[in-house]
Amino acid sequence: MLHLAAYAVTEQQSRGRRHPEPPPGYRSEYQRDRDRIIHSSAFRRLEYKTQVFVNHEGDMFRTRLTHSIEVAQIGRSIARALVLNEDLTEAIALAHDLGHTPFGHAGQDALHECMRAFGGFEHNLQSLRVVDELEEKYAEFSGLNLTFETREGILKHCARDKAAQLGEVGRRFLEHKQPGLEAQLANVADEVAYNNHDVDDGLRAGLLTIEQLCEIQLFAEQFTEVNQRYPELGGRRRIHEIIRRMINCQVSDLVENSRRILEQLQPADVEAVRRHTGQMICFSEPMREQHRQLKQFLRLNLYQHYRVHRMMAKAQRIVKELFHGFMSDIRLLPPEFQRRIAAQEADGESGRARVVADYVAGMTDRYAIAEYERIFNPLH
Ligand code: MG
Repeated sequence: MLHLAAYAVTEQQSRGRRHPEPPPGYRSEYQRDRDRIIHSSAFRRLEYKTQVFVNHEGDMFRTRLTHSIEVAQIGRSIARALVLNEDLTEAIALAHDLGHTPFGHAGQDALHECMRAFGGFEHNLQSLRVVDELEEKYAEFSGLNLTFETREGILKHCARDKAAQLGEVGRRFLEHKQPGLEAQLANVADEVAYNNHDVDDGLRAGLLTIEQLCEIQLFAEQFTEVNQRYPELGGRRRIHEIIRRMINCQVSDLVENSRRILEQLQPADVEAVRRHTGQMICFSEPMREQHRQLKQFLRLNLYQHYRVHRMMAKAQRIVKELFHGFMSDIRLLPPEFQRRIAAQEADGESGRARVVADYVAGMTDRYAIAEYERIFNPLH
């Protein structure tokens, strides 16, 4: 068996699966979770879902799928360095965006607005819903029947009223407890991944410039170092060399700072981690500040760039019109979704809205565009 730190999650201490199953023969429980996630349809659809740039804008940009793989890579490296459970970290990282709508955050905001009267829409909760209920793959249960620890990691945040309806996995939000270290780690790895790859994609798209990025300490420091060491280097190689050093800087800080915290607090086991008032996997104070600076820079200069905004405004219109179109005439839905609405008749309009939201959220960017054409374009 792998040697893990005392504060790591181990399958011996697992809170198990909702539907008990015999242990896997030759894999760990968390490897089994990861394998189920990779074989899910929601995972394959991540390939055609937007991270920042809509899928058809170019083949070189990140999609939700490559983003999730980058999160898993960063998460696994750190997990191994801290002697945490690498399989669990990987499973959480690969599953963390399964519930994402088409068109990234614009899609999620639009769907949330549509669902406001019916309990709202939140992609974290939807990721949990995908693995708990929506995947139809196994003879004996709906969903993927993942372990408690993977589900705990997927549910990054949750409002108290929602948490109260979720049973054990929601309880920590009511009791103000932390998740295990692997979940904390997957969460930070997500941020490291997107902040850095969005710089790369933003430069590639020509929406950000190197001059602008030099306002950011994290970028400027690596920029200067790379230029001094490799004055001849230009183009994409220079950019990649800078970004890989930025990632390395953040990951090293995260490993060293978290190691320091763990040595200081010496949590005896995962329950001690959960009871602690703060996060144990986190950046040092100076790095946190630099990271915040980078995030703010990206928000102002990339996510709110007028060219990104145009695409996103269009995407929001598509999501909203699809939602309202299906709500006003459920016979426009594929038969399986009509059947699901019929089965939930007792829930009335909000039951219907939830099924429609599941359908819309599950769409890839291009499927949403095609569905929009099929439904609203009379010449289609
Ligand atoms: Mg993510």
